[in-house]
Amino acid sequence: MMYPGIAGNKKQVPPFTICFRCGICCSDHQAILSLAEAQRIADKLGITPDDFRNRYTDKRWPGIKNLLLRKRNGACVFLERVKGSKVTRCQIHAFRPLSCIDWISSSYRRECQKGLARNWGLSVSLAGSVEGTSDRVQEFCRLLESLTTCNGQEISQYNRV
Ligand code: SF4
Ligand code: SF4
Repeated sequence: MMYPGIAGNKKQVPPFTICFRCGICCSDHQAILSLAEAQRIADKLGITPDDFRNRYTDKRWPGIKNLLLRKRNGACVFLERVKGSKVTRCQIHAFRPLSCIDWISSSYRRECQKGLARNWGLSVSLAGSVEGTSDRVQEFCRLLESLTTCNGQEISQYNRV
């Protein structure tokens, strides 16, 4: 699949909303979830709600109405790095909390820009275009083209702002 305007030798990628899975948002923030969501995720994982609380939530948070997922090695406990790549994956993606589902990626977003800079050596212009050397832009375009879905949607619906 080729993205209009971002293939070839271009040094700029137009503004986009594709999540390129850098994992910065899952590292810089903590996901909040309701008690009902915790129960649902515990069910999916085949563990009790108490086990879920003990293993996956932040004990510093009171947890009366909501819980926070805890961090491990500076990122959400459910985030894992895909070996040999610049991409991460959420181990509970199919049943992740609503606060994660509601998070929209965008080349205008600070966290996504941080991931672009850190993982890809790319910057974002005021107009939202991703910029960098030809090699880096092409490498990044290859990643975008390899991704088939974003937030459960076919990526073609998400490819432009
Ligand atoms: S549950 Fe998944 S999407 Fe949500 S913060 Fe953790 S790793 Fe990220
Ligand atoms: S910071 Fe942006 S690109 Fe990186 S994982 Fe989060 S939403 Fe996706």
